[in-house]
Amino acid sequence: MIEFINLTKTYPNGLTALSNINLKIEKGEFVFIVGASGAGKSTLIKLILREIVPTSGTILVKGKNLAKMKRREIPLLRRNIGVVFQDFRLLNERTVYENVAFAMEVVEASRKEIRRQVPMVLSLVGLSSKAKMLPSQLSGGEQQRVALARAIVNNPSILIADEPTGNLDPDTAWEIIGLLNEINCRGTTVIMATHARDIVNSLRKRVVTFDRGVIVNDRQRGEYPDEA
Ligand code: ADP
Repeated sequence: MIEFINLTKTYPNGLTALSNINLKIEKGEFVFIVGASGAGKSTLIKLILREIVPTSGTILVKGKNLAKMKRREIPLLRRNIGVVFQDFRLLNERTVYENVAFAMEVVEASRKEIRRQVPMVLSLVGLSSKAKMLPSQLSGGEQQRVALARAIVNNPSILIADEPTGNLDPDTAWEIIGLLNEINCRGTTVIMATHARDIVNSLRKRVVTFDRGVIVNDRQRGEYPDEA
């Protein structure tokens, strides 16, 4: 599904954020990416989204070499990858329904598809009754549910969650993790960058640990490493 081969990313200022990374993530996996701040987690995510390109080496997403991807192919790639962030990134002037619908409008889905799909994902994240509200009228956990609904509304095969629980209290964080797990069980590959030790330790999924740009640990049914 996603493969990094001998991948190095050096930023224009000369800083090497990732160094000779080899990593393969299979379809349907749930993978935690952990590591101290500056370890290279965000760089990894930006590479998958093709916001940046490698300095050397290869990244394949569904068999496609991203460095060789044409500009016009990028929207299709991004349609296939849902993303949620720590800070939700919702459109504050738009309702819950409109926020989710917007993700479908961007990829030119038909009005019929939008009318069918948006209520379905809002129901999946438990927000059917809040469709007409604005983000400012919701709790943090509810806002993250909207962001999740928006991330999955186009049925992506990959969901990337970058510190999705970083702004949430523990109970709410667990609700979001429950949803990520459910989305994973429905077949979506989930990649989650996190510092949430408790969550990593109780889910016992694959844990890939980065330290200063290299992978220092890659464990199935892993735990949060002491050093990260
Ligand atoms: P993490 O997400 O694990 O905190 P990052 O991928 O953001 O790590 O950063 C890895 C390293 O790359 C850090 O040393 C950071 O300062 C550096 N870095 C990140 N983005 C840039 C950039 N645009 N230009 C230069 N250096 C960067």
